[in-house]
Amino acid sequence: MAVPRKEARPLDISILQVVEDTPEAERTTHQAACHCGAVQFSVTLKWPFPKYPVNTCSCTICTQNGHLFVYPCRREVVFTKGYDNLSSYVFHTKTKSHKFCKTCGSSILADFEVFKQGQTVNPVRDILAVNVRAFKNLDLNSLEYTFFDGRKYL
Ligand SMILES: [Zn+2]
Repeated sequence: MAVPRKEARPLDISILQVVEDTPEAERTTHQAACHCGAVQFSVTLKWPFPKYPVNTCSCTICTQNGHLFVYPCRREVVFTKGYDNLSSYVFHTKTKSHKFCKTCGSSILADFEVFKQGQTVNPVRDILAVNVRAFKNLDLNSLEYTFFDGRKYL
């Protein structure tokens, strides 16, 4: 018999909604970078880990890239270096831009809004999916994980 895998909780959709409603003391800023360091950025999350659960997803792109996603709003993701060094990959409905470092290939984030230009987007709903594998000094074994069965929907 295989060793049973610890069951991740289902994704709580509320994490994708209002993201800046927590006290300053709860908000936590993480430094992040791609593997080669050409792309540098910070991400502020509304809760510290492991209170902020990290989402895994069964869709094809998340499986391929090993994405471990958190969902900050756009203004909480600040690039200090190399945003122009990101390249984009789109597929299927072409409604999400998957951004990765042109130099080292590290998957950084999925941008849900890039193809809605011209539409008004509520800033607290303007979220990105950021891959915590890019976060510095993060112990992946210390995190709480949720699961979304994206392969059924995407
Ligand atoms: Zn890189």
